[in-house]
Amino acid sequence: MSDLPPDLPRLHALETYLQIQLAAVQDAIRHHEQQTRTNTPPEVEPPPWLAEYGIGATRTTVQIHRGDCAMTGPRKKAISEQEARQGCVEVGACQYCRPDTALGIVD
Ligand SMILES: [Zn+2]
Repeated sequence: MSDLPPDLPRLHALETYLQIQLAAVQDAIRHHEQQTRTNTPPEVEPPPWLAEYGIGATRTTVQIHRGDCAMTGPRKKAISEQEARQGCVEVGACQYCRPDTALGIVD
């Protein structure tokens, strides 16, 4: 470390400069960590009920699923429990996840 100044005032000045630099680097680290946290999608609970709908402009509901069903296919939307009950009766429930059983609709 022979590049360091030999006198105390300049060593103190250098110390202050390095403290400022360190604080700036720590701020940058915090900033990046916050952005990483913001960019990470939060753990999203699946909606409790899903309506699967068919191809076409009318988007007719074809069957009702539980939110965690793996058999829903790409065309689906979250619906309320009331809509799920209605859908199970009107268009039918998925035979895999059985939302009708979960809703207490058993015939
Ligand atoms: Zn299902």
